[in-house]
Amino acid sequence: MRPETRPRTTAQLEDWLRFYQDLGIGSFFCDRAAGSSGHAEPAPCEKPEVSTLRQTAKKSSVPAVTVAAPPFTSSAQSSQIVALGPSLFESVERVAGDSLDRICTDLGDCTRCKLHRHRNKIVFGTGNPHADLMFVGEGPGHDEDLQGLPFVGRAGQLLTQMIEAMGLSRGDVYIANVVKCRPPENRTPEKDEVSTCMPFLLRQIAAIQPKVVVCLGSVAAQTLLTTNKSISRFRGEWFDFRGSRLMATYHPAYLLRNPHAKPEVWADLKKVMAHLGLKPPVRGSARS
Ligand code: SF4
Repeated sequence: MRPETRPRTTAQLEDWLRFYQDLGIGSFFCDRAAGSSGHAEPAPCEKPEVSTLRQTAKKSSVPAVTVAAPPFTSSAQSSQIVALGPSLFESVERVAGDSLDRICTDLGDCTRCKLHRHRNKIVFGTGNPHADLMFVGEGPGHDEDLQGLPFVGRAGQLLTQMIEAMGLSRGDVYIANVVKCRPPENRTPEKDEVSTCMPFLLRQIAAIQPKVVVCLGSVAAQTLLTTNKSISRFRGEWFDFRGSRLMATYHPAYLLRNPHAKPEVWADLKKVMAHLGLKPPVRGSARS
């Protein structure tokens, strides 16, 4: 636990422990001394570009929490996917009045999991802090690790095309990943890495309060929906997730390898567009 985020009272400590236990995090460790990670750059508390076209006043009327609800239910087959139980996160996120700046500050020059060892830059996330639409991917790749920005490689270029095909720009949406540091050789993030980094993503979602969260790929989808089911079995379906609607679709990197799946993803994105009241683009195609 980093010094700046260390609870100051026993009650705060108990809250923090319950919070992380509720998220499935059972082990804690002390960070190395500041500066020992070999990464001199601060965390990228980026001031995002905000499109004036899509910037909306943030939903200020956050309902008071009375009973913590399960994080999601599926519109179609909730019984098929195992959901987390009621979460302390539900109360923590609302009481804290969180912000992306505060989350980024809390993240700091993070060394909480082993992914910090080989990273160049933390990829915190980018986009409109008031976005109606948020994309969540798996983790940074080579290009993202170098630039400190999510989805800027080939898959990122395809995601940009998908966003533009929806009639939006990257500045209209928010983009983040399940883990904020690049796994070595682009391997799948391991369970302990995901569970350690996840609280920051959950806080980002809570701070942004998007109307729709789109999970890109199985890691993001399975993590947020707490399921081991194949994404092919629930992609394109709507779920309720902590006050947002959530849909999973294939990762752009998968589409680069399997372009025949593009129509399925486009069909998913059209559902998202309909939910957000977005007009179909003039060209009416998600070519990439
Ligand atoms: S992946 Fe997340 S938890 Fe792990 S070191 Fe990076 S920012 Fe910290």
